[in-house]
Amino acid sequence: MSNLEPRPAELVGSTGVALAPVRELLPGREVVLGGTRGMPVLRTLPNRDRRMVGAWCFVDHFGPDDVSRSGGMRVPPHPHTGLQTVTWLVEGEVRHRDSIGSDQLIRPGQLNLMTAGRGIAHAEESPAPAGPVLHGLQLWVALPAGTRAVEAAFEHHGELPRVELSSGGGVTATVLLGQLAGAVSPATTFTPIVGAELTVAGGAEAVVPLDAGFEYAALCVDGPAEVDGVAVPRGTLLYLGAGRSELPVRSDAPARLVLLGGEPFAEEIVMWWNFIARTHDEIVRAREDWMAGRGFGTVHGFEGDPLPAPVLPGTPLKPRGRVR
Ligand code: MN
Repeated sequence: MSNLEPRPAELVGSTGVALAPVRELLPGREVVLGGTRGMPVLRTLPNRDRRMVGAWCFVDHFGPDDVSRSGGMRVPPHPHTGLQTVTWLVEGEVRHRDSIGSDQLIRPGQLNLMTAGRGIAHAEESPAPAGPVLHGLQLWVALPAGTRAVEAAFEHHGELPRVELSSGGGVTATVLLGQLAGAVSPATTFTPIVGAELTVAGGAEAVVPLDAGFEYAALCVDGPAEVDGVAVPRGTLLYLGAGRSELPVRSDAPARLVLLGGEPFAEEIVMWWNFIARTHDEIVRAREDWMAGRGFGTVHGFEGDPLPAPVLPGTPLKPRGRVR
């Protein structure tokens, strides 16, 4: 996925970690992605009121959309630095191709994890014929200072660990990153972090074990679902803060949540377009390199031109930390 806002705002680091349990409902805002096809997504991170949850810094939720006529996703080659992209589908298929030679179809229940590190380019599109339905998430994870310039890498995990969380059955977690309730994802991580999908059967409830040192948020993908007593509508992120060792979830009807958590990210970052860096000048160099065809490699097999980078804002991008 590419951040395709024509004039991306300066996006900054987390503006304050709640060290105690809180309940902040963060609605998504609609952003249109897509290069030649406009694909609407609901973006809940970065949010005006909250920039990060642990190292999670970008949450886009797309669909469910009937894409049999539109052709679905078509995001031309574009670069990334300093982050990992996490692709997770509920319905449909997406083909990923990148500049280190990966070519991978992803289906629901599977994980595509791309570590951009010092730099990679990729393209994402619905395979033809598309559809009928596309529904999923793309999430970004910021890399910490010590590993943010690692070699680019790509992983596909066709099978992920699942764990039943409800004594009565009906609340199942699939662990994308990190670990939950003793189930450990095989995916590569660079900070203490967790990402898990929770499917909740109608009438089911469970208490999810948490790490009190992490901050957490729950995204409702299908719902509403009730999280710590709060009804969370579809497309909304409930920020939960830190200091919790457990989290009650329940739903009257079948629902799906994605739990995101991690150790609060202590560094200041600069996030602009598809790059995460630490200074304005690093962003300028990454942008210039991309526009000059340097340093990111080539995505083979995509029919069409790469995405040009947007114009930088007139004032310097500032690194921002957790406190405004
Ligand atoms: Mn992307």
